[in-house]
Amino acid sequence: MEQEEEHSRSDNCPICLSPILQESYLDQCFHKFCYNCILQWAKFVPSKQYSPQQSFVKCPLCKRKSSSVIYDYDGNSFQQHLINQNSDTSNFFTKAHKYRLQCYYVQSGNSIGNINIMRYWKSYKYRQPNQWLYRWVSREIQALIQEKDVDIIVHHIVGVIDSWRRNEPKGCKNSPELKQEEFKKTVADAAKPFLRGRTDRFVNELEMFVASELNIEAYDKVYVNHLGWKIPEINNDDDEESEERDPLIPLLSFSDEEIDETA
Ligand SMILES: [Zn+2]
Ligand SMILES: [Zn+2]
Repeated sequence: MEQEEEHSRSDNCPICLSPILQESYLDQCFHKFCYNCILQWAKFVPSKQYSPQQSFVKCPLCKRKSSSVIYDYDGNSFQQHLINQNSDTSNFFTKAHKYRLQCYYVQSGNSIGNINIMRYWKSYKYRQPNQWLYRWVSREIQALIQEKDVDIIVHHIVGVIDSWRRNEPKGCKNSPELKQEEFKKTVADAAKPFLRGRTDRFVNELEMFVASELNIEAYDKVYVNHLGWKIPEINNDDDEESEERDPLIPLLSFSDEEIDETA
């Protein structure tokens, strides 16, 4: 019986990286998550290829299979939610969503490819709107929180960015570094209520996306080149993995990676 060591990381939920809301446990390994986090995970993250009616969830931390989530434990009694997927609810969650979720959960968020972030700030490119931003933010939020209807959140975040951009005083002489800092703070404040512990990572990612001046497909391609994962629309044979990881962020497993499970 291996006792895991992640208690050193406090009691944050490994999925949202924030204090746990409605403590829940997987029935086999008793790893702890927010109730919503683990249910959403169970619903969207497993592969649909080989088992549409999958009745278990693989723990993102230890990969053990549990068939239920235990919650509302008060010392005597508890509630139990059986895992059972309804494949029709997860149509919106495409391969690209899942790929992006993996990027957030297994990669540290350092700059990738040769995207030059400071050049973007120095060149004042940030003054122009980015035509792909809405669609990009929408997909990222869907992937991160595993919800389909994210329009209100996306509106809010993109609106805040637009008004930040438009409200820059004429002839503003702030340094690029200061502009960058302001921008990141603005986005973080807007996103935090929804993304909680994943906010900073999202902000870095958003900055990288706008600084890249690429469209969504091209941006995804940069990632695939960097991480070597495949998503169906993109063919790439590079399979180098990034070594730089933030030790404070648990790396979660995705069941899709283990093809041997298919049987
Ligand atoms: Zn959580
Ligand atoms: Zn576990």
